[in-house]
Parts: sequence; structure tokens; C-alpha cells
Amino acid sequence: MLKGKNAVVTGSTSGIGLAIARALAAEGVNVTLNGFGDAAAIEKERAGIESEFGVKAIYSAADLTKGSECAGLVKFAEDTLGSVDILVNNAGVQHVSPVEDFPDDKWDLIIALNLSAAFHAIKAAVPGMKARKWGRIINTASAHALVASPFKSAYVSAKHGIAGLTKTVALETATFGITVNAICPGYVWTPLVEKQIPDTAKARGITEEQVKDFLLAEQPTKEFVTVDQVAALAVFLAGDSARSITGSLQQIDGGWVAE
Ligand code: NAD
Repeated sequence: MLKGKNAVVTGSTSGIGLAIARALAAEGVNVTLNGFGDAAAIEKERAGIESEFGVKAIYSAADLTKGSECAGLVKFAEDTLGSVDILVNNAGVQHVSPVEDFPDDKWDLIIALNLSAAFHAIKAAVPGMKARKWGRIINTASAHALVASPFKSAYVSAKHGIAGLTKTVALETATFGITVNAICPGYVWTPLVEKQIPDTAKARGITEEQVKDFLLAEQPTKEFVTVDQVAALAVFLAGDSARSITGSLQQIDGGWVAE
């Protein structure tokens, strides 16, 4: 049912986004990759997706902190593949610091990328989805869309914002065959988590070695969520069986927010 659809997955050169792009491609979906990184490694991944799954895979280096580049990414995908049927707003960064020391530029970056980019991409993609009466919008939110942790003021604010955006757009598009949902992962071992280890250690006054256990203390399963588990949930939400799931915040967090 997903075969031949066209997807944009933002922040798909790494981590969760890459796993979602690969999982959609495995279902026969043509994918637009986006994100930063080593050009040769990205090209290898793009070409690998095409040859492994027999789909089209294209790449855009759009910087999604800029609204015009979010809209440009959607237009690039529509012009090249013919449509954007599935939009996965996934690109995100983190910064860990007490609020009184939180750098202004980090606040602006996190709100721009983790929240406003999704608005700009949704705004650009919805007209085509409405016209075709079919669409899937999947926002990678976080357990931090539902609960807070200290020292992550910008991230928690952006992720709570994404939850509101998800529900609002779901209501606006419900009669157009479009669903809008957020995935709320707990800790997933990716570069985003790895990079926050030193700052978390500093903010909490513990060693870097203690941080991993500290993160897992949040998750009753005491296991990191895997990128493939998150990707499988995204594929399910894109499929026909999920037609009646819209405006939802899907927890995939080892029980974190149940506590
Ligand atoms: P990651 O660092 O592996 O991937 C982030 C991606 O975003 C990369 O492809 C990167 O190049 C891209 N990116 C960064 N700045 C960009 C910009 N300005 N424009 C376009 N792309 C940009 O991180 P991840 O852990 O895979 O995170 C993906 C999403 O999942 C984020 O929204 C994050 O908040 C969310 N999330 C992650 C976890 C976790 O534990 N890893 C938990 C919950 C939610």
C-alpha cells in the first residue's frame, strides 16, 4: 500500500531519521534524505538505499533552521518525485544547561529546528496532500513532549510545542485523508544522546560514565529504545491500518512517562 508513495524525512543522515528513511524505502517508498554530514558518506547511503530497495532516493542539504529552506525542501521533493505523501519532521538538536546559563543562540537554534521547521514544512506540504486527499505527517517528538527534565528548557519547550502542532494540524486535516501524529521516544542511543553526555555530566555534577546509567534510570525497561523500533512505528503510522490514528502522541519510551 505504501509502494510508490513519496516521503521527505528531515534529519535523515543519521540516527532515527536515517532508520525511518530506510524502513520506508524497504516498503517501496521513494525517499528524500536531508541533513548534514560528510558528503561522500551521505551519497553512499543515498545510492545504497536506491540499490538495496529499488526506490528513488534523493538528497537535499537544506538548513531547516531557515523557514524558506524548509519550504524549499518540500518543493524540491515535489518537483523531483512528483509529490510529498509522507512528511517526517525529525531533524533536531539538543543543548543541556541550567536555564540561567542557557545560551540565547542555543535557545533560538533549538526552537527553530525542533519546532518551527516542522511548521514551515507542514505548511508547504499540506496543500498537495489535501488536493490528493491522502497524507501522513509524522513528527519525531520525544518523551519530553509529555514530561520535563531539568537543564533542557529549549528542548522540552520545543517538544511540547510539537505536541500542540501535531494535534492542531490533525484537526484541520482530518477530513482530507491526512493523519498527523507524533512519536515520543525515550532515550535512543544516537549521536544526539552521545553528544549530550559531557554537558549532562557537568550540569548534574556526575562523571560521564555515570550519565548512561542516569539516563536509563528514567526508563523502567533499563534499555535504550532502538532506532529500528522507532522506524517500525513510523512505518505503521504511515500505513492504512493507522488511518484512524490522528492527533496522537505515541509513546515508545520503555515506560518512562508511565511512572
Ligand atoms: P541525530 O543527531 O542522530 O540526527 C539529527 C539529524 O538532524 C541529523 O541528520 C542532522 O544532520 C540533522 N540536522 C541537524 N541540524 C540540522 C539542520 N539545521 N537542518 C537539517 N538537518 C539538521 O539525532 P537523533 O537522536 O536521531 O534525533 C532525531 C530526532 O529524534 C530529533 O528530533 C530528536 O529530538 C528526537 N529524539 C531523539 C531521542 C534520542 O534519545 N536520541 C529521543 C527522543 C527524541
